[in-house]
Amino acid sequence: MDGNETFYTVMRRHGISRRSFLKFCAVTAATLGLPPGAATKIAEALESQPRTPVIWLHGLECTCCSESFIRSAHPLAKDVVLSMISLDYDDTIMAAAGDQAEEILEQTIAKYDGRYILACEGNPPLGNDGMYCIQAGRPYLEKLRHMADHCQAIIAWGSCASWGCVQAAKPNPTHAVPIHQVIHDKPIVKVPGCPPIAEVMTGVITYLVTFGRLPELDRQGRPLMFYGQRLHDKCYRRPHFDAGQYVEKFDDEGARKGYCLYKMGCKGPTTYNACSTIGWNGGVSWPVGSGHGCLGCAEDNFWDKGSFYAPVTNLEVTGQVEATADRIGKTAAGVVGAAVAVHAAATVVSRFGKQEEN
Ligand code: SF4
Ligand code: SF4
Repeated sequence: MDGNETFYTVMRRHGISRRSFLKFCAVTAATLGLPPGAATKIAEALESQPRTPVIWLHGLECTCCSESFIRSAHPLAKDVVLSMISLDYDDTIMAAAGDQAEEILEQTIAKYDGRYILACEGNPPLGNDGMYCIQAGRPYLEKLRHMADHCQAIIAWGSCASWGCVQAAKPNPTHAVPIHQVIHDKPIVKVPGCPPIAEVMTGVITYLVTFGRLPELDRQGRPLMFYGQRLHDKCYRRPHFDAGQYVEKFDDEGARKGYCLYKMGCKGPTTYNACSTIGWNGGVSWPVGSGHGCLGCAEDNFWDKGSFYAPVTNLEVTGQVEATADRIGKTAAGVVGAAVAVHAAATVVSRFGKQEEN
């Protein structure tokens, strides 16, 4: 594949019509919540910019991020961006194996040095010199650092890559750590969740390859367009919360009436994600919609914060609709301190090459 090919050229070579291409641009703009006219800008960018390759690595994880991604409700985005256009390496779904697969990594570095996106699912275990995750005869940490050295930017898929997740749960026997603890000199966008929502994943990756820069991030490194609000702020059960109408136990009268799940341990008041707006399974439902509280899977340390069924305490929630993660971090540090203390300030990266702190 010619390294200077544009996205549009590659799409056309794969038989995608101009009509489908424009539809893809419109879907992308809508998913990203961009203003009218953005679809045209996306089309212009894809017609003129060289494609951005994506290398997708897997460390310690369960592959739920990949499982979520391939079930995106927007197959056009998924197929066009990854299967046809940009995905050069994914050791889980690629056909190549062994030496042939590993050669692709070196070929990508040789051809696109400093110009590819490194998408990381899972995390590196540091214990026993990285021996808990060996790939192609070497610790995953080594492979991760090598590929990170030559990339433009990193996507940390899911709560494993973003926070450590369950394999980092106490006592963390493999010493699993999130990506930002071992890679310090590249822009990183975190897309947490266990797994992240498919449309959030396709939205983030489409934004990166289309605009060539990171979306606006919060101070934990998450895209504000998807992690700017708490589930609680847009939950359809919120009127019941405000009215003091709670489910007291599963299958009681309150449960049948669709009351708020706060007392059943719902972590919606402290969880920043798009579940209550985008939903799951193509927007069909989401956990609270199915009668179970949010576990807070997109938040740091959710796995070690105690019972999933114990209510969030010590947090002023009433009247904080539309609150941002930063504001909650300042006003309720005691509750979400662990979540807001990590990672550096939000970064703005122009063409990925230049990193500035806000
Ligand atoms: S506590 Fe949970 S169920 Fe209740 S309004 Fe908030 S997000 Fe919805
Ligand atoms: S509702 Fe909560 S636990 Fe469920 S996927 Fe969304 S953030 Fe994760």
